[in-house]
Amino acid sequence: MSTPRVEEKLFQNRYLVDAGRPHIRVAAHTAPSANLLAMTRLCPAGCYGLNDAGQVEVVPDGCFECGTCRVLCEPSGEIEWNYPRGGFGVLFKFG
Ligand code: SF4
Repeated sequence: MSTPRVEEKLFQNRYLVDAGRPHIRVAAHTAPSANLLAMTRLCPAGCYGLNDAGQVEVVPDGCFECGTCRVLCEPSGEIEWNYPRGGFGVLFKFG
């Protein structure tokens, strides 16, 4: 029996979306800072991306709540980060 890859383990997680109440928000900006830009490469769930205007956006559906973006961008006010409401967010069923 082979050892499952990390991607296969992460696929076992489930995420319950709290529609209309994202638990992470990016503050309005014209050009992203280096830290905010880095999140487009660092987020393990791929929640951060660039829009057509070159601004960083977040879609927190699938967020693992690892806290990387919170550590990097919340102290400077570039993002607002809260845990999802009870019953919503990531469900680590098999991870
Ligand atoms: S907490 Fe982790 S998984 Fe969630 S959006 Fe931030 S970097 Fe991505």
